[in-house]
Amino acid sequence: MSSIKSAVIDYKPSEMNGNDHYDGSRPWKLDATNIKVTINKNPRTVPDPGSAEERSQKVCSDHMVSAVWTLKDGWQQPEITPYGPLPIMPTANVLHYATECFEGLKLYRGMDGKLRLFRPLANCARMVKSAERISLPGFEPEALVEMIRRLCAMDGSKWLPAHCRGSFLYIRPALIGTDPCLGFEVPKEALLYVVISYWPQPSYSDGARGLRLLASEAEELRAWPGGTGFAKIGPNYGPALKAHGRAKRTGCDQVLWLYGEDCQITEAGSSNVFIVRRESNRQLQMVTPPLEGGSILAGVTRQSILELVRARLSGDTTKEVGPVESIEKNFTMGELLQDLSDGNLEGVFICGTAAFVTSISVIEFRGRTIELPNNNLALVSLLRKWLFDIMYGGEKSEWADIIEEF
Ligand SMILES: *Cc1c(COP(=O)(O)O)cnc(C)c1O
Repeated sequence: MSSIKSAVIDYKPSEMNGNDHYDGSRPWKLDATNIKVTINKNPRTVPDPGSAEERSQKVCSDHMVSAVWTLKDGWQQPEITPYGPLPIMPTANVLHYATECFEGLKLYRGMDGKLRLFRPLANCARMVKSAERISLPGFEPEALVEMIRRLCAMDGSKWLPAHCRGSFLYIRPALIGTDPCLGFEVPKEALLYVVISYWPQPSYSDGARGLRLLASEAEELRAWPGGTGFAKIGPNYGPALKAHGRAKRTGCDQVLWLYGEDCQITEAGSSNVFIVRRESNRQLQMVTPPLEGGSILAGVTRQSILELVRARLSGDTTKEVGPVESIEKNFTMGELLQDLSDGNLEGVFICGTAAFVTSISVIEFRGRTIELPNNNLALVSLLRKWLFDIMYGGEKSEWADIIEEF
């Protein structure tokens, strides 16, 4: 298995251009070796399991970590402070021009009682790419990993105590343009911060149910060639809420985002999509849309699944599943329907940090209810087990980053 260093996105700082007209592409030194800490003197209680407060997803842990950037002085020393409101002006650039990017990862309490992050460097490197796209300052991804590790070390023991084996907290790094200048220009001030959100605890049997997806309409696109689909920037998500709301109202779980006249399958909600099918020679194949073209979000889970399948299920295998060929190429609704009628479709699943690996049972497509087969259960269960074991310490892996608590 490849090391964390080669994870998902290679971060290469762009050249310093020495130009005063900052375009968001310059790397800036962020030093997280010396984080200033202010302890929260009024810590809150952890919501009771099953409580409305837990389900609200409004509760965060006692602390946050943040760093201020200005064009003049670069990144200042990061600070851990009590969780609380941000000091930004009503004219702040982010509130008008959506100069924002974010990440999503989880802190896992292992079956061995240890805290772990899963490939955090991949998330932080992706955040640098997102920042560059939305004209926010870059930084060394390792420094953000260090900020996240420190925050988790500080709040992990209380918010995800050692007896909560098999549970997680949700970590949300965000970067916003805070410049109070209302003029339309690249922000000269920004704030990077990380909070830990308290989520309802998972039921890993949920994946067996199978989700219902509502296919997007022809006139509503999530992303397009030359657009920003590859970046985890706020402006990709607000406009997607309308279709998401319609999906929920019609009894679906998420939107299946299609693109083009041939209805290419791209993503589902905030998850990547895999189609499992048989070639004419009966070879089992996993197809997921390619990253080239810039419309697909390069999911860490997607990449991990591709790497695991290529390492463990290609060629002859004695496993209960396989061999499986994994291919990155476009796949249309027409091809899906053809496979379905030819008996070649094994199933569809989605994957992401939030969704984990989950089968799809139904696609509502322009007035048609398409019931999908679920013949790929063994493959999906295997992928879930492999990832679960790495995240929760059942298998030793370079992808797991153990957090020492204090
Ligand atoms: C975050 C996200 C994903 C999943 O990425 P992971 O790194 O696996 O969590 C997929 N698609 C979209 C649009 C996303 O925002």
